[in-house]
Amino acid sequence: MDMQATRPATGPMVDPFGRHVTYLRVSVTDRCDFRCVYCMSEHMTFLPKKDLLTLEELDRLCSAFIAKGVNKIRITGGEPLVRKNIMWLFRALSRHLEMGALEELTLTTNGSQLPKYAAELAACGVKRVNVSLDTLRPDRFKAITRWGDISQVMNGLAAAEKAGLAIKINAVALKGVNEDEIEDLLLFAHGRGYDLTLIETMPLGDIDGDRTEQYLPLSIVRARLMDRFTLEDIPYRTGGPARYVRVAETGGRLGFITPMTHNFCESCNRVRLTCTGTLYMCLGQEDAADLRTPLRASHDDAVLYAAIDEAISRKPKGHDFVIDRRTRRPAVSRHMSVTGG
Ligand code: SAM
Ligand code: SF4
Repeated sequence: MDMQATRPATGPMVDPFGRHVTYLRVSVTDRCDFRCVYCMSEHMTFLPKKDLLTLEELDRLCSAFIAKGVNKIRITGGEPLVRKNIMWLFRALSRHLEMGALEELTLTTNGSQLPKYAAELAACGVKRVNVSLDTLRPDRFKAITRWGDISQVMNGLAAAEKAGLAIKINAVALKGVNEDEIEDLLLFAHGRGYDLTLIETMPLGDIDGDRTEQYLPLSIVRARLMDRFTLEDIPYRTGGPARYVRVAETGGRLGFITPMTHNFCESCNRVRLTCTGTLYMCLGQEDAADLRTPLRASHDDAVLYAAIDEAISRKPKGHDFVIDRRTRRPAVSRHMSVTGG
């Protein structure tokens, strides 16, 4: 028998619903220097450091996904830039950009460490960053992030601009918390040439508060914005779930991520890898695949490719998030900081 013919091969990854998986999000740590109210409880128990994949292992896993057709990688967390020596991973992955196998290497960050790392990220071929910022008011910022200081993020944005990185602000729309500030965030972002994306809160992980009190449908936010601004639908896509409009008055782009009010699963092209090597085929489902065992079992990447193929064959059709008063439990017990936003 020809062994070669039975060896799991590289690329492409196509799930049972015909969706090509080309986008990998990698949570490199579950730790964070902030404690955002919708994301974590104040006293989180983090993974023991020994359970984490090393940076070399993360590089090998990412490279296996690239060999299997991933052309876009987003590094996230937790806060990715608090992982020790994280720039080693960016430098390592940048070789795939240079060789053309990877089209984009990017990250989502709370911005606190950008003053330190923005220039190095740009040198590694990172072209744009998503920076999370839910408010422009220092007192509110402290209340939302518990441990953060808005001046760190403002300095981070300045550093990113100086390094030539394109910036997108991510803001979670929170009822009674920042809903009166959405216009200000829009004017701030567009005034500086940044995109803005609004996100609905998702029921991921136990937090100290009640999610039904935080949830604000973006359909309401959009209707309110339309009283003041002209929102023109545009076909712009970044490979993510956001739907974009152009705001005629500012000329800037505004995205909406609406997992709760509009299901975006039909075009899902992504899978998510955690810092322990667990692959989640859907942000909104518990089903997962352990890639750490095959990774450590053999130096032969064929073992890894087989495990990845098996996981992709289980990618579910979609999530079933609900937040209502009867469903007081989170739809998914793990926090966003585990799977990455
Ligand atoms: N620490 C980084 C940051 O804050 O950008 C990266 C990880 S964070 C989990 C990624 C994104 O997920 C952030 O924009 C954050 O606001 C968002 N997020 C966290 N928990 C969420 C939730 N339960 N629902 C919706 N978005 C959430
Ligand atoms: Fe940290 Fe980001 Fe979660 Fe905030 S949203 S606690 S910054 S991981």
